[in-house]
Amino acid sequence: MTALMNTYGRQPVTFVSGQGVWLTDTDGKRYLDAVSGVGVVALGHSHAAVTDTISRQAATLMHTSNLYRIDAQEKLGAKLCAVAQMEKAFFCNSGAEANEAAIKLARLYGDKKGVESPAIIVMEQSFHGRTLATLSASGNRKIQAGFEPLVSGFVRAPFNDIEAIRTIAQNNRQVVAVLMEPVQGEGGLHTIDDNYLAALRQICDAQGWLLMLDEVQSGNGRTGTYFCYQHYGVLPDVVVTAKGLGNGLPIGACLARGVAAELFQPGNHGSTFGGNPLVCATALTVVEVIEQQKLAANAAKQGQRIREKLQQKLAGNRSVREFRGKGLMIGIELDRPCGELVGKALARGMLINVTSDRVVRLLPPLIINDAEADQIADTVATLINEFANA
Ligand code: PLP
Repeated sequence: MTALMNTYGRQPVTFVSGQGVWLTDTDGKRYLDAVSGVGVVALGHSHAAVTDTISRQAATLMHTSNLYRIDAQEKLGAKLCAVAQMEKAFFCNSGAEANEAAIKLARLYGDKKGVESPAIIVMEQSFHGRTLATLSASGNRKIQAGFEPLVSGFVRAPFNDIEAIRTIAQNNRQVVAVLMEPVQGEGGLHTIDDNYLAALRQICDAQGWLLMLDEVQSGNGRTGTYFCYQHYGVLPDVVVTAKGLGNGLPIGACLARGVAAELFQPGNHGSTFGGNPLVCATALTVVEVIEQQKLAANAAKQGQRIREKLQQKLAGNRSVREFRGKGLMIGIELDRPCGELVGKALARGMLINVTSDRVVRLLPPLIINDAEADQIADTVATLINEFANA
């Protein structure tokens, strides 16, 4: 019996401690964590600098209110804006909330332009969160079913299809923005073509649309650059992130530049907890460690290493449809549902994830070394080979 609402299908394991990429359960068994709390624990568990900042800040000042100036929030805002080439930041407590801020920015932008019923283009298979607006924006019927009426004002387009966007531009005068993940995480690790984002930027400029990127999962070094859009030499107007930013403390950020950076005025938006001294001081440490230790570069290197080893070891395995992803967002699509692999991996001392029914997803901490990367590739390849032959 449990007193918790039935929102998750949980694995029958409880972890009591973590160190680096390793977790320990109640029986003392150790697990290599190739999920990172779903892309959160970028620096690994119990990272010394993070622990130190949390301890110091908790002993100094945890919370005041956004009614007052917050030094750590100012510093984090300035740092993130410098890293992202953005101008202004809004802080909240999760990825969904950060997307809510972006959606509200788009609506306000449309309102100011005199658009009667502002609409945002969103993608098939996308995931933006579980609040009403963000589940309405998401391209996944499963998370919407039962929660109708959905929030209106979203126009759906196929992912990575620039012609579809051109067609919408010709036919829909209500569109004011595009919101998309540069790598779809929950939707199955789909990536965009190298020239897609530049082409989308051009359309947004020509139409006067805001380009808004959801980097909740792909941000903070995970794909090999601090933000994924930095691979493509294109700047969005709005970028949203969360997950890895706090290494486990709840924080979300909505960053903006240009006209989007100036839209919110006092009273338009807010958050009681958002951007408090504890989470901001911690996130600042996280961003600094990612930079100083060149963890985005390590994500690119180790992602490549894991992908190459998986490709070698799974060559000829006909149940493997495709290898996808970028950096340490790795997806292996199989030809059948494979959720049972999560339990099988757990039995062997490894945490993996399956998304979209048939895509094995790996999101290890950005600090993994060669030996840990090899262990992930070996174990996952063995599991998939056994599964395919069973
Ligand atoms: N956006 C993306 C791309 C995500 O991957 C997620 C979570 O998986 C979210 C938004 C929602 O974030 P949160 O669960 O912190 O609300």
